[in-house]
Amino acid sequence: MSDPHLNLINGAWVPGDHLSENRNPSDLADLIGLYAAGTAGDVTAAAGAAAAAQPGWFAAGPQARADLLDRIATRIEADATDIATKLAREEGKILPEALAETRRAAQIFRFFAGEALRMSGEALASVRPGVDIEVTREPVGVVGLITPWNFPAAIPAWKIAPALAYGNSVVLKPAELVPGTAHMLARIIHEAGCPAGVFNLVMGPGSVVGRAMVEAPQIGAISFTGSVPTGRAIARAAAERMKKVQLEMGGKNPMVVLDDADLPTAVAACLNGAFFSTGQRCTASSRLIVQSGIHDAFVAELTRQMMALRVGPALAPDSQIGPVVSVQQLAGNLSYVDLARAEGCEVVGGERLDLPTEGHFQRPALFLNARNDMRVAREEIFGPCAAVIRVADFDEALVVVNDSDFGLSAGICTTSLRHAREFRRQARTGMVMVNLPTAGVDYHVPFGGTKGSSLGPREQGRHAAEFYTTVKTSYSFAG
Ligand code: NAD
Repeated sequence: MSDPHLNLINGAWVPGDHLSENRNPSDLADLIGLYAAGTAGDVTAAAGAAAAAQPGWFAAGPQARADLLDRIATRIEADATDIATKLAREEGKILPEALAETRRAAQIFRFFAGEALRMSGEALASVRPGVDIEVTREPVGVVGLITPWNFPAAIPAWKIAPALAYGNSVVLKPAELVPGTAHMLARIIHEAGCPAGVFNLVMGPGSVVGRAMVEAPQIGAISFTGSVPTGRAIARAAAERMKKVQLEMGGKNPMVVLDDADLPTAVAACLNGAFFSTGQRCTASSRLIVQSGIHDAFVAELTRQMMALRVGPALAPDSQIGPVVSVQQLAGNLSYVDLARAEGCEVVGGERLDLPTEGHFQRPALFLNARNDMRVAREEIFGPCAAVIRVADFDEALVVVNDSDFGLSAGICTTSLRHAREFRRQARTGMVMVNLPTAGVDYHVPFGGTKGSSLGPREQGRHAAEFYTTVKTSYSFAG
């Protein structure tokens, strides 16, 4: 353990208010490291440094920005095993998932290296003779990035990379549970030659560091991923200060299985969507909406495969499902298991598991005979728990799909082209999957949802420019 891990402000590693312990949810005896918890003053310093550095960073031009992002991508690829190991140790996802996420982070930096060169605008003729019009994109300035614990590499990457590519400077605050991966990313960005102040890392509690970021006058835009209550509080505070916000929040993602589905495809999609990454994905399939004719065969096979999943430490080679991230999250999951019983579901699995190392292990759970008006079908659990809701036909399935406060991702398993087509058009979500899990997305296309799941422009792909740039319209008359 090389300690302590400090914040990066204006190109220098600085201590915060105190040091915070980072422990392994697969083995609480494993202390991963001590990480600086910053103060509001640290945020002021980071935001000030970022504001001072930003004009020079934009003026350096697209080649300099593309080159930096490219070097960062190369370093992440080279260090992928180390980064993924730390990620798996602190977040709890199994090593293959952590490696895939880390490689995804590198791909995102590489994608936005290209986008830096493709920052484009429009030239139009004016309605007034002799006047030319140019519509160009400019950076917002300083952006504040606030990230959750469940994708400690990919989510910071998909915010940092477009922010830097389009010429902004950055203050990043990662979730308290996963400072290690963010710290490794920060070190890579710093060592890849990012100019002082262009990228700043301030770790620490949301109530101190996150709040100060939303309040900092130099920070012009906040991109946040996390829970709905935090998102709502950020939106309120940002509106008072006229800040641009992008909020990516929760989900209660439906997966429909129709009678005509290919059973192995449907079971594989639901097993993956509901339980992989311990169900700790905003796009996890947490409502399985199953037509009567296939219901019993589907439930029998999904139950069999779910109960065979090997729950274990994130770094153990035979683990398929890692631990829940924290003791609080585990307690929340277990209380939803109790609630499912109290609401009248038959519960399969879901119990806490005692393994040789002390960690937050839980067997995945199915809540059978659920109804869509139950709390277990309406509230995001964010754990390895899925409610199974029986429906009579496609039309009823669609009503259930759209009867939710969330609208992130929706899926359908069917061999009917007509139903697949209708579903893609009628599902009120930002992402729709046909014969694929609701979770698992590409990095070069937009990501985001509707209703309570998202607010503001989409993340990722070329659509990221909507948030990370502002549009300027210039008129000129040559005389
Ligand atoms: P959270 O809301 O508790 O925390 C998210 C971040 O906000 C953390 O960095 C936290 O420190 C910070 N924060 C907390 N209070 C704050 C405040 N008052 N001001 C500013 N920042 C503050 O969420 P979490 O538990 O880390 O993550 C789980 C949630 O994230 C789930 O609801 C999940 O669905 C959601 N999520 C959404 C997406 C998506 O893209 N839609 C992706 C991943 C996770």
